[in-house]
Amino acid sequence: MFSTFENRAIVSWDIVTRSDLHIGGRGSSGPSDVDLPVLRNNNDYPVIPGSSIKGVLRTELERLLRGCSVDVCTIPDVCYSSRWLSDNPERKGKEVDPCLVCQIFGSGGNSSPVRVRDATAAGKMTVVRDGVAIDRKTRKAAKGSKYDLEAVPKGTVFSGKVTVENCTLYGKEYARLGGLLSLVEFFNACAGTMGHSVSRGYGEVEINIKDISVISAEDYLNGKCSGTVYENGTTEYDEFVSLALDAWRACVSVKKE
Ligand SMILES: [Zn+2]
Repeated sequence: MFSTFENRAIVSWDIVTRSDLHIGGRGSSGPSDVDLPVLRNNNDYPVIPGSSIKGVLRTELERLLRGCSVDVCTIPDVCYSSRWLSDNPERKGKEVDPCLVCQIFGSGGNSSPVRVRDATAAGKMTVVRDGVAIDRKTRKAAKGSKYDLEAVPKGTVFSGKVTVENCTLYGKEYARLGGLLSLVEFFNACAGTMGHSVSRGYGEVEINIKDISVISAEDYLNGKCSGTVYENGTTEYDEFVSLALDAWRACVSVKKE
């Protein structure tokens, strides 16, 4: 799918926690007396895995596009996965474009145009909260159910990056990047969440884009390997982003049923 390098956009962002955030998982190396430690990197800084960020954004895009009457697949049965093919036998062996979600986040057999790196906290500070597991049937505290939950406190800044490979989609320049940017806007506007215990008020985050670098094959030819950098807060940034958003909206309009 990407045997030709046209261009690459590198979006640098901060993910700022608006409430306590708990993301645990394998590799957790928090205090051993905590039942549910947060996930940390090798240097002991809390991290939000790129796969979690991508998963949250992908699910949001699926729901959004369906709301716009665009036909899209549902993870894990993504376009051209074996389950998807058995549900859509008429498309087997045919060269059909994957849906718009897969055009951004990739599908079975295709490398993903969007790669999200882990976001790393600026500090190592965490808090430990008491938790009680509730028995679903009795709605009371389950026996022996008290546990400690380690969380990253509100106001923590995680820095990360996402790359978008070959930003043109259906001939619309920067549309693929525009798809990602529109998603970030929507995520923030809808008080997006990540991680666990969201129903108990954990995990509210905001994604703040710092800058976008765009590097094209032409830049490479001209020895301008750092490309063009658009810094948030400048007119150039606003103009570039609105160009990308318009291109994305044009793609969505074409795909409406
Ligand atoms: Zn798809």
